[in-house]
Amino acid sequence: MTTDIPWSELQKRRLQDLNGLPDMSDSTFASTAERDASFKKQERFLTDEAKTKLNDTMDGIRRPALCQMESILTDVLIQAGFTQVTTPVILPKSMLAKMTIDDEHALSSQVFWLDEKRCLRPMLAPNLYVLLKDLVRLRKEPVKIFEIGSCFRKESQSSRHLNEFTMLNLVEWGLEESDRHRRLEEYAQLVMDAAGINDVHLEHENSVVYGDTIDVMQGELELGSGAMGPHFLDGNWGMTGAWVGIGFGLERLTMVHEGSRNVRSVGKSISYFNGVRLNL
Ligand code: ATP
Ligand code: MG
Repeated sequence: MTTDIPWSELQKRRLQDLNGLPDMSDSTFASTAERDASFKKQERFLTDEAKTKLNDTMDGIRRPALCQMESILTDVLIQAGFTQVTTPVILPKSMLAKMTIDDEHALSSQVFWLDEKRCLRPMLAPNLYVLLKDLVRLRKEPVKIFEIGSCFRKESQSSRHLNEFTMLNLVEWGLEESDRHRRLEEYAQLVMDAAGINDVHLEHENSVVYGDTIDVMQGELELGSGAMGPHFLDGNWGMTGAWVGIGFGLERLTMVHEGSRNVRSVGKSISYFNGVRLNL
């Protein structure tokens, strides 16, 4: 008699949707009857838990964790001397070209095109470059700005990737070159503290767009990517000088803070509300 019957694919997906325990996914059973009974019990337990969470949200704070995260980070960055900006989601192709994202570029296959000349922005950096050029001209340095807004990339299915996600990008332009590393670390820490996330470390990476980058990691999960200048892209925007910047994915920060295992459940969605799958 076989004693190692696993969950069916359908059962596994349902338990995952309901935010079931990860250590349950490898469970095996002596018979399908035993497995199906166990599934029913788990499903009932997780459904009750999800309903409680839904009620807590709607009777309590009445905001999804993603929106709360955005508010908290906005307040903290303004307190730290950054100015908030907000820019268009629709991006001209010429601006992507200035980021050196042409048809041969690795990121180019991830871009959502609206027509031949316009796409949905895959990142905030092009708009921030344009704004900074004027702000640095009109203001005494340093200029510290940030934007929080939707970005779009065609991604393959993953628990860490969404086609539409929320980027927080902060930039300080016009600091001492010798201060850049320290400042990047300081800003990474500021955002992590505000997001209530511990146990992060910085990792040196090589990005297809930004060259050498410093990633903010929790274990294997990338939460943010930092870069600094003078940088080979700056000339395309008519900019000179030293700068630091970091881009964070707000769904990833929210996922870690909430202890979810999937960005989908905390992101913009009509299937989930604040981490709760609605087909309960
Ligand atoms: P990854 O290597 O994990 O795909 P990336 O290096 O391509 O990420 P960046 O371009 O560095 O991503 O973007 C900055 C941050 O935005 C990432 O650290 C991540 O937190 C977030 N991010 C990027 N792409 C996505 C996505 N498709 N869905 C959710 N968050 C994302
Ligand atoms: Mg990155």
